[in-house]
Amino acid sequence: MNAASNCVGAMHTALVAIQEQHAELTIYEWDHDSGDFGLNSDGEKIVVARLCLECTPESIKEQIDDAAYDAAGNYDDVPFPCPTRKLADEGLGGGERG
Ligand SMILES: [Zn+2]
Repeated sequence: MNAASNCVGAMHTALVAIQEQHAELTIYEWDHDSGDFGLNSDGEKIVVARLCLECTPESIKEQIDDAAYDAAGNYDDVPFPCPTRKLADEGLGGGERG
């Protein structure tokens, strides 16, 4: 292995680590009446928002845990993929999803 390929390998590892860190946090609609996830006509959970797990503040993640998250009411949440994740995806050839 020469110096150049070592360098590319390290870069690849770093980008994969970023992808794993900046993972997708999917928020599903919560049906407060039934006390369960809301489902669409296909019986699938309804996606409210996709956020970056790493970039979205803890305060918002707590709201999500409490099923109190309102996608329209939060301004500190960071949509997925965030700029960092996009760069990592592009660096790895794009399109990869962790
Ligand atoms: Zn991020």
